[in-house]
Amino acid sequence: MITLALSKGRIFDETLPLLAAAGIEVLEDPETSRKLILPTSRDDVRVILVRASDVPTYVTYGGADLGVAGLDVLAEQGAPGLYQPLDLGIARCHMAVAVPAGFDYASAARAGGRITVATKYPAIAREFFARKGVHVDLIKLYGSMELAPLTGLAQAIVDLVSSGQTLKANRLVEVERVMDVSSRLVVNQAALKLHTAPLRRIIDAFAQAVHEQA
Ligand code: ATP
Ligand code: MG
Repeated sequence: MITLALSKGRIFDETLPLLAAAGIEVLEDPETSRKLILPTSRDDVRVILVRASDVPTYVTYGGADLGVAGLDVLAEQGAPGLYQPLDLGIARCHMAVAVPAGFDYASAARAGGRITVATKYPAIAREFFARKGVHVDLIKLYGSMELAPLTGLAQAIVDLVSSGQTLKANRLVEVERVMDVSSRLVVNQAALKLHTAPLRRIIDAFAQAVHEQA
């Protein structure tokens, strides 16, 4: 049995066409089913639903053979020992620094300056500001980052941006791009050694589908 770890929402939705290209159809809809293990049209393949940030953990420790995880999650956690053969080009967005409109970011984030930053990505943010020579006081949040600068919790946020509508609605402006983000296929190395042929077939079918979409 091959187990593929996905998170509900955009990653699940955008992985479906890639699975279809590999001849795999997921037989239940995670939005209506309460099941966390979904059967597929192939007896030897199942999908498990986990939190986006738990995908690398499941694959690293063998709870899943492969999975789809955002580069944001992989960069934040490090994910050593995971084989990452493919950028799937899905769930595209970017990570950015944003501040309230009117905030003098250039002064606060000058070399030698100091800034308070709220984020779900403290490791990435720490590294980003360290490179600039800016002292950063990090506040770890799990969601609704936009609120932090509006309530005085932080001066800036590091968060994912796609259309920019959420920032705009909260009168925040993007001041720096931290990294481009898309989702990657991650594979457990031991599983790849043990089940080389079936895993390779899935990886190759995904690669071809990604290539054709580009
Ligand atoms: P959880 O709900 O478990 O806290 P999450 O909110 O990070 O996780 P999603 O919002 O589904 O879950 O995000 C999953 C992945 O999709 C992220 O890790 C990121 O790579 C990508 N992503 C997040 N937001 C966007 C966006 N606005 N546009 C495109 N891709 C995004
Ligand atoms: Mg989310």
